[in-house]
Amino acid sequence: MTICFIGNSFKYETEAVMKLFLPLVTFEFLFEEAAHSGDICTVSRCKSENGHTLSVSVTLDGKTESENLLADGEYCDKTDEAELCRMLYRIMRKLTGITPAWGCLTGIRPVKKVNKLLEDGLDKAQIFDTLKKEYYVSDEKLKLAYQTAIAQAEPLKALDKRSYSLYISVPFCPSRCSYCSFVSHSIESPGAKKLLPQYTEKLCEEIAETAAIASELDLRLDTIYIGGGTPTTLSAEQLEAVMGAVKKNFDISKIREYTVEAGRSDTITEKKLEVIRNFGATRISVNPQTMNDSVLKAIGRRHTANDVIDAFRTARRLGFDNINMDTIAGLPTDTPEGFRHTIETLCGLDPESITIHTLTVKRSSALFQQEEKSVDSRIGEMVSFGQKKLLETGYLPYYLYRQKNTVENLENVGFAKAGYECLYNIYIMEEAQTILAVGAAGSTKLVNTETGKIERLFNYKFPYEYISRYDKMMEKKDGITEFFNNI
Ligand code: SF4
Repeated sequence: MTICFIGNSFKYETEAVMKLFLPLVTFEFLFEEAAHSGDICTVSRCKSENGHTLSVSVTLDGKTESENLLADGEYCDKTDEAELCRMLYRIMRKLTGITPAWGCLTGIRPVKKVNKLLEDGLDKAQIFDTLKKEYYVSDEKLKLAYQTAIAQAEPLKALDKRSYSLYISVPFCPSRCSYCSFVSHSIESPGAKKLLPQYTEKLCEEIAETAAIASELDLRLDTIYIGGGTPTTLSAEQLEAVMGAVKKNFDISKIREYTVEAGRSDTITEKKLEVIRNFGATRISVNPQTMNDSVLKAIGRRHTANDVIDAFRTARRLGFDNINMDTIAGLPTDTPEGFRHTIETLCGLDPESITIHTLTVKRSSALFQQEEKSVDSRIGEMVSFGQKKLLETGYLPYYLYRQKNTVENLENVGFAKAGYECLYNIYIMEEAQTILAVGAAGSTKLVNTETGKIERLFNYKFPYEYISRYDKMMEKKDGITEFFNNI
């Protein structure tokens, strides 16, 4: 589809609104008027006698809809762009018959908007009113975002500008899942497997050097998250080396949370769980994604739903009292009934938190091999059922983010029992705390909590690069010192 911009270049937001309705369509952008043939959208802004005129016109599948609006005064990019997006949204809603539940709110962090309005002193009714008027957000999603913001209020209040979280990246997995879009290396490949000892060594080195920088700057370690990949792809000895390096170099006696994403049950052993517990972790994840064996097989997992239950029970027996379980709605070959079974089985296990992710439609549509719209409604049905069931069971939403390029930008939501909200997840989603990241693909996020200024430093993405160019990468760490010396 061609999108033409006249008197403006609001490409980013226009495309984001269009993608809510046409997630699989590729757009061509022109910054001039184009001949009218086929599917076309024109977004224009031009001066008029008493102000300026905003217009949007869309032709889709032979049908055309348009809106015009006379705006007062001079151009204002911010308000003009927002108005044009609302006009485009109304037109696309009419032409496609789709009403996205998040309206035209396209950002990946909708809770940030609610948090900002709460900070401005608005009450619940005023917040709902504002977001409905500005973005056409549905009551269901407003409620979800508001509940999430309320759950985050306390954890967000407790932050100071010298506190930080430590993220440790282990981008290896026992095999690659068919839907994976992460930088993770399957150790089925002999090359990747061979890297593990060297990787562990370099990771321990980086942990020690990062601890020295943080100590020099008098920063206070608040939470730790070992993620991936699947960190338990490491052997018990390698895990012990990494967690031992953390214990040796950081003071973990005052941290509030220490998570290890144990992840896939085909990597979880009693010995590894003992290491995780003995080195101070307070929270683990056992992530089934689905409790249907046929779906596990379809996504390339080498374990069964019973293996997940066994891993969960072993963790409980060893004393883990804060366990998270991740699920994904829309996995290949899954159905609403299958997803219902997953959620009900997990509720039966009674973990402290359950996360519902949504697979992007791009991937799932190819997998379902059905019409775009029907994929959307099946995933939407799974998500709605899951969220409702978790709320009824006593879990509350505490972090939420959305993905681009999904119909309606469906959300991923972490649910937890009261008091078991993962602080690290809240801080990373709300960009509220500095995160010092170590390991390949780690991304350090430096946050000035007073001004909101954020800077990022990236480690090399791939393990072989991380190992071979380690010294060069470490030169970037000066950025941490510079950032904190300036606040
Ligand atoms: S476990 Fe996660 S990171 Fe590993 S291959 Fe599967 S989706 Fe990717």
